[in-house]
Amino acid sequence: MSVTVEELVSACFDELQMGQRFVPYIRRAEEAGFPQLAKLFRVLVASETVRDTLLRQGLLHHADLEGDYFVCPHCGLIFHFEHPDQCPVDETPGATFIAIR
Ligand SMILES: [Zn+2]
Repeated sequence: MSVTVEELVSACFDELQMGQRFVPYIRRAEEAGFPQLAKLFRVLVASETVRDTLLRQGLLHHADLEGDYFVCPHCGLIFHFEHPDQCPVDETPGATFIAIR
């Protein structure tokens, strides 16, 4: 059975729905009397939903590309081909990036 890159990526993100994992905790926090925590869980749902879209697009874009990847161990920013001297977000030294070869 053959499968396309698009089908695999869609299956992954449709199945995992990373942002949705926080949804049950919104109601639990509200019921427990923690409205600010409930709000923060809603923030995580929104943020992870945006990230899911970006990650899905990134996977589809990079699926046919060659080269190594480097992940900032502090913020998770991803670089293709080589790591920067330092992370532009948090100044983590590039030499400490996680290399995916
Ligand atoms: Zn970083």
